[in-house]
Amino acid sequence: SDNILEIRNMKKHFHLGGGKILKAVDRFSIEIKRGETFGLVGESGCGKSTAGRTIIRMYNATSGEVLFNGQDVHKLNGKKLREFRRNTAMVFQDPYASLNPRMTVGNSIAEGMDIHNLYTGKKRRDRVAELIQAVGLNEEHINRFPHEFSGGQRQRIGIARALAIEPQFIIADEPISALDVSIQAQVVNLFKSLQKEHGLTYLFIAHDLAMVKYISDRIGVMYLGNLVEVTTSTELYAKPLHPYTESLLSAIPIPDPEVERVRERIILEGEVPSPVNPPSGCPFRTRCPKAMEICAASMPAMKEVYPQHYVSCHLY
Ligand code: SF4
Ligand code: MG
Repeated sequence: SDNILEIRNMKKHFHLGGGKILKAVDRFSIEIKRGETFGLVGESGCGKSTAGRTIIRMYNATSGEVLFNGQDVHKLNGKKLREFRRNTAMVFQDPYASLNPRMTVGNSIAEGMDIHNLYTGKKRRDRVAELIQAVGLNEEHINRFPHEFSGGQRQRIGIARALAIEPQFIIADEPISALDVSIQAQVVNLFKSLQKEHGLTYLFIAHDLAMVKYISDRIGVMYLGNLVEVTTSTELYAKPLHPYTESLLSAIPIPDPEVERVRERIILEGEVPSPVNPPSGCPFRTRCPKAMEICAASMPAMKEVYPQHYVSCHLY
């Protein structure tokens, strides 16, 4: 199949006690094609990190299916589970927090290889040297410690760590949000070139639509634990359908001076409601400038309004 991942109605709910349930991710369905970058966008707390972590089984799904190369991730065990672990990796937002400060960079990079018993001795050393160069650092860096590096360099080390196990699929959870703007593009370009070289598939999580457009083939927009719109990156920017996507897009400047159309800035009123006590019907209705009566009464289903353009909104 062209799809490396098929996610069907995945839910991740946390039971908080006292009968309260936090619906961090609800009815989440997407397919991710082999070799593509799927961008997942939304404000902090919308469930995008939880969705990513549930996809690679850092969390168990509450219900639904996550098929990786056709196999249900949440039903794997033994050898199959180890194989899955080796095929998936994660790059975190804060590269410093994800690196052990007392471990040399070389050993940090090799950690996954060690866990999976991939290489020892000279082969292991060669592989570490190869990885550190692949991310734009050099062999002199191998015996140093994380505090000796800048944020951008540490994120490169985090990427080398992820690559070490030769995964097919990498989740990058806001990998550039903590970096200086001046080096964000460099790190994104590194992701892009590594993808080409190794045939990687990415789930790229971000709260900023501008960077996600640049790297993603397709994008899913999340609000309050729900996907509200899914389509190609080009289509999403040219023809956003969901009122929430429109508001997100209106916040980013159009860098291309050829584009005459100026988007009117849409400022949303109110706060994001609590996912413990979400509104009835459409989760966006308390802030939606286009809300109608039906929006409180029923949750809009995800509809394919144009080919490969899905939206969950009663306007369509
Ligand atoms: Fe707005 Fe209604 Fe569409 Fe929700 S369903 S986004 S409230 S118009
Ligand atoms: Mg997050």
